[in-house]
Amino acid sequence: MEWEWVKEGQAYLRLNWGEQVEAGFSSREGGVSTGAFASLNLGLHVGDEAAAVLVNRERWLGVWGAGRRDAVVGEQVHGTEVVWVTDAEAGRGSGELGSALPGVDGLLTQSSLGLMAFFADCTPLYFYDPTIRAVALAHAGWRGTAGKIALRVLAALAERGGKAGDVRVAVGPSIGPCCYEVDERVAAHFRREFSETPFLQATRPGHYRLDLWRANLETLVGAGVWRSRIATAGLCTSCQPEHFYSHRRDGVPTGRMAAWIRLKTRESEDRGQIRGRRQEVRGQKGRNRAGGSRQYEP
Ligand SMILES: [Zn+2]
Repeated sequence: MEWEWVKEGQAYLRLNWGEQVEAGFSSREGGVSTGAFASLNLGLHVGDEAAAVLVNRERWLGVWGAGRRDAVVGEQVHGTEVVWVTDAEAGRGSGELGSALPGVDGLLTQSSLGLMAFFADCTPLYFYDPTIRAVALAHAGWRGTAGKIALRVLAALAERGGKAGDVRVAVGPSIGPCCYEVDERVAAHFRREFSETPFLQATRPGHYRLDLWRANLETLVGAGVWRSRIATAGLCTSCQPEHFYSHRRDGVPTGRMAAWIRLKTRESEDRGQIRGRRQEVRGQKGRNRAGGSRQYEP
């Protein structure tokens, strides 16, 4: 199973993608926030006490043996902008809102920086290209999905020699088709962007069930990603109140889960976090240089 619940210590979902990369998705369990935010709320922008959120973030990052300086966060504006980040962006947005990378919903890196993004119903998309040794994380709500942020990530990977045929993608927990009804206005966005919309099922006049998992999957497969290399968690945030916050179910206020992905470094291998045999990583000298306009510039 690529997606697997881990229940020791903090309960979270781990994405098993081999020894070169670590990734996961938090649950709402095991934190210090109270009320609507109980308990592991990781969102600083939802009205919870900042001090509690920072304790929660420390716990979540601790799952990965990481601290705030090891993570980078984008602003998440329901857009489709994606940027490459380097160690120069270390810590941006991980301890306060103001320093998050403005205007972006997708992050890519070839460094050992952890990419982090926050979710209540929107779909987390994880990318790993083992050939160019790069990872990416995108925030795809209905707007990002209709706007095909997945293609923006693939295009950015291609700028550095990545190929859709090499890429692994995971679709994390988000609101499922079981619980996500949208109106004509939202459906029209998808009809404009997709020639076929099998992920929209009519329910009652002017309303549709929207399957964000399938819409992202069709986008990825259409761009050349192997269907067998897309791991959809298939977990609905609205259906599982014990595990997840849900904006649609809970309304405002509610908390946020976090997605995390990071390339494992030689240093972490040396610490014994990776066991067993592994292949030599091919040298990637020169791959980390800024390429084109998508490199983040402050
Ligand atoms: Zn559901």
